[in-house]
Amino acid sequence: MAIMFLLLSVAWAESAISQAGLPVENVDYVIADFTTGQVVEEHWREPQTASPGSLLKPFTALAYGRKNGLVFPDLNCTGEACWLPSGHGQVGIVQAIAHSCNAYFRQLAISVSPTEVGFEAARLGIRAPPPNSRSESLWGLRADWLATPHEVLRSYMELVRRRSEPGAFIVLQGLRRAAREGTAAALATRLPQDAYAKTGTAECGHVLNADGDGFAVAVYPADAPRYAVITRVHGQTGRVAARAAGALLHALTTR
Ligand SMILES: [Zn+2]
Repeated sequence: MAIMFLLLSVAWAESAISQAGLPVENVDYVIADFTTGQVVEEHWREPQTASPGSLLKPFTALAYGRKNGLVFPDLNCTGEACWLPSGHGQVGIVQAIAHSCNAYFRQLAISVSPTEVGFEAARLGIRAPPPNSRSESLWGLRADWLATPHEVLRSYMELVRRRSEPGAFIVLQGLRRAAREGTAAALATRLPQDAYAKTGTAECGHVLNADGDGFAVAVYPADAPRYAVITRVHGQTGRVAARAAGALLHALTTR
């Protein structure tokens, strides 16, 4: 009976992924029940421990906020130091998170230390960055702050649980906007309610080399969370990983 259930449960996830037009063999996922924090489904190939790229940006945002009385800068992203060649224009913290602006986080990270970012990370349940990390490592540009998918998922759930804390509240506004209209907007196309989400693209952690692996993490629905999911899609961007996360959340909440 237990084996039967396992087979059926893996089948629903795989069919959700392939219905979203994604190759099942390239998609890894961990799904947790938000209320209990327990993993309800997972399929994550080695390596478990890898850089989750821009999924790390919220921790640097929290550290900067704590240090600066929650006053965040506005800056003009011209595209010069960003993944978006045309630039994001004038951005504040909420837009910078929603659109994962590298130029913004490059600036923010210069004024926080690995210890300060590590303090926020540890509070939420993800390991701290290495103590000698360069500032680019603190928001995932360099692939030397590693974490498991379970740590990342746990930390985002904890961030949502702390949504009444002022710093978490600001970061979560960015994550909500990311899911609506930012880098994780592929989620919204499948889901009737708002989510909190973030995407990232990191160096490929697999044996097969590729341009990178896309990551997405989402907590859904934002107003009364039931599930949290993290996805990794080999050789694709974070946007594609958001599509996979949306497909899984859609299947979970409608079956
Ligand atoms: Zn930018």
